[in-house]
Amino acid sequence: METVGLAERLYNTYPHELDGGRRQRIGIARALALNPKFIVCDEPVSALDVSIQAQILNLMQDLQEELGLTYMFITHDLSVVKHISDNIAVMYLGQVVELASSKELFKNPLHPYTKALLSAIPVPSIKHKRERILLKGEITSPINPPEGCRFAKRCWMAQDRCFKETPELKNIGNEHHVACHLVK
Ligand code: SF4
Repeated sequence: METVGLAERLYNTYPHELDGGRRQRIGIARALALNPKFIVCDEPVSALDVSIQAQILNLMQDLQEELGLTYMFITHDLSVVKHISDNIAVMYLGQVVELASSKELFKNPLHPYTKALLSAIPVPSIKHKRERILLKGEITSPINPPEGCRFAKRCWMAQDRCFKETPELKNIGNEHHVACHLVK
């Protein structure tokens, strides 16, 4: 509890007596109790409000440095992704469609799905507006997906080939991997 910043007076409290941020600290403490090197964090801050999110993310980064941890951080929140990640894998319907360092991915997104995701990040400026890519079309069923690219039904760049051949995840240089027929 000390490691995750919980006061001694809280030792005997019940979960319902703690707020969301403190309960999340308990979750982190439970994960750390086994002295792991690798922790899978599945949406660890999505239920928290923004100020508490920042506290928990800062705590996780401090612990990472102190204990030499590796996190696999699963989230749909791209601002959080940008803040915490060294490397990013973008997934669509259970498949990795783009994999790169955080810096590279935000500077040079290549897969159409990644471009659409990044276009949805709000810009904190009234002078600069980012053009939003709105995805239309039907979401392919993940239960029995057909041949071809799983994103094809929603992709504005799709060609005939995309509906027949599944694109492989290829290294296009600089450890930037993309699964799209149009990216060379
Ligand atoms: S392979 Fe085709 S459908 Fe899939 S992302 Fe690339 S262009 Fe779009």
